[in-house]
Amino acid sequence: MTNHDAKQDDCALCQEEGGELLWRDDFCRVVLVDDADYPGFCRVILNAHHSEMTDLPPAARHCLMATVYAVEQVLRDHLHPAKINLASFGNVVPHLHWHVIPRHADDRHFPNPVWGSAMRDQAVATRPALQRDVIKAALTQGILEARRQCPVP
Ligand SMILES: [Zn+2]
Repeated sequence: MTNHDAKQDDCALCQEEGGELLWRDDFCRVVLVDDADYPGFCRVILNAHHSEMTDLPPAARHCLMATVYAVEQVLRDHLHPAKINLASFGNVVPHLHWHVIPRHADDRHFPNPVWGSAMRDQAVATRPALQRDVIKAALTQGILEARRQCPVP
């Protein structure tokens, strides 16, 4: 069994939310990353301190990924990106978290990763302000549906 409460004193994601909290339960949370170049950039963060997906039992891996997919679907539905980038590194903060990044063909780095070389000074098009309340409501609905199909173990 995964210990949902396992925390480490020296880990930023054990001590802080890691962004503006959009949704959470006992298992994981979804935060909005403060990045003006990437509105809607979210992270799905496991609450317990584990560094690798294979540290989790299979049911917990599936539950975490079901949450990631629910976030991806909401961002696709509401922001209509050209592409969603999913990434998990943890080289700097080795606490399981998935980046869910809506990408547009004219954004600062496209087609490079957002951590790669910038292709332009800023996005070509100005995008409408993120409707946080709408996104939050859709995330809640989407993740609860994902939980019914793939419950927290
Ligand atoms: Zn941690």
